[in-house]
Amino acid sequence: MGSSPLQTALNEIAASARAREDRGAVASYIPELAGIDPDQFAIALARPGQPTLVAGDAQVPFSIQSVSKVFMLALALGQLGDGLWLRVGREPSGHSFDSMLLLELEKGRPRNPFINAGAIVTTDAVLQGSTPRETLAALLRFIRAAAGDDTIHINDRIAQSEIATGHRNFALAHYLRSHGNLTNPPDLTLGTYFHQCAVEMTVTQLANAGLFLVGGPDVPRPVSERHIRRINALMMTCGHYDGSGDYAFRVGLPGKSGVGGGILSIVPGVASIAVWSPGLNHYGNSKLGTEAMEQLASRAGWSVFGAGERGVL
Ligand code: GLN
Repeated sequence: MGSSPLQTALNEIAASARAREDRGAVASYIPELAGIDPDQFAIALARPGQPTLVAGDAQVPFSIQSVSKVFMLALALGQLGDGLWLRVGREPSGHSFDSMLLLELEKGRPRNPFINAGAIVTTDAVLQGSTPRETLAALLRFIRAAAGDDTIHINDRIAQSEIATGHRNFALAHYLRSHGNLTNPPDLTLGTYFHQCAVEMTVTQLANAGLFLVGGPDVPRPVSERHIRRINALMMTCGHYDGSGDYAFRVGLPGKSGVGGGILSIVPGVASIAVWSPGLNHYGNSKLGTEAMEQLASRAGWSVFGAGERGVL
């Protein structure tokens, strides 16, 4: 039996990504990530109730970094509900993921939960009343249940590498604390945040873990439909930092990137797509990953902005 048009599309996208020489630059500000081989590429497509399709280096685990902010936000909304919005906003920032600029102007209330300052507040809110160990265990439980895979783990070496060098994040956390928007000591919140960022997954695991955002009868439902819509809205408007508008324009789907080179994108009601290529563009988002999402969305005719036009698959 020949392979499906979607499998063919994934194979072709992976093959053309492999052949590329302009791959972007790997994140070097986290020493443990600086040595990653930039020639790797993988893509996975998960659909409710169907086998997950993969192409490329789909067996290689990578550091999901800021993609973890989606799962921590889901946990925070499930535990705290709308109270979270007293501490963090829902607007794109138009600045880089680790920028301090608006935080001073806006008196310690970060623009959204996906820039670092907002993610640190979100983690701090979940951490309140429990220990880092319990919070990370709850996060891993959430991710493992969403992916249906108990082998997903945290890479402590990568977390320690950021603890030793993440001075900007320490600056953000202390600044938040000075405005009364950090409940726990900065060391505790950041220790938790760095470990959350150091979750490792393959694209297969990540695509499966994103299925809860797709919705439908056959997927786990760890948070309410209302929260799912809101997480997807935030991924669309803020998931790629100052590159979010460009991602919406080119791909047309909610997406969340990480400096490990991973991207998770959701086709609501249809599919969860994960891609990984460690080289980044100037926004700090995966260069070839973004291009692969653009190609797949265009070939399949997937866009939340479409008027029902069908793709070529
Ligand atoms: N752990 C990284 C940091 O805080 C995550 C950033 C990212 O993936 N954009 O700098």
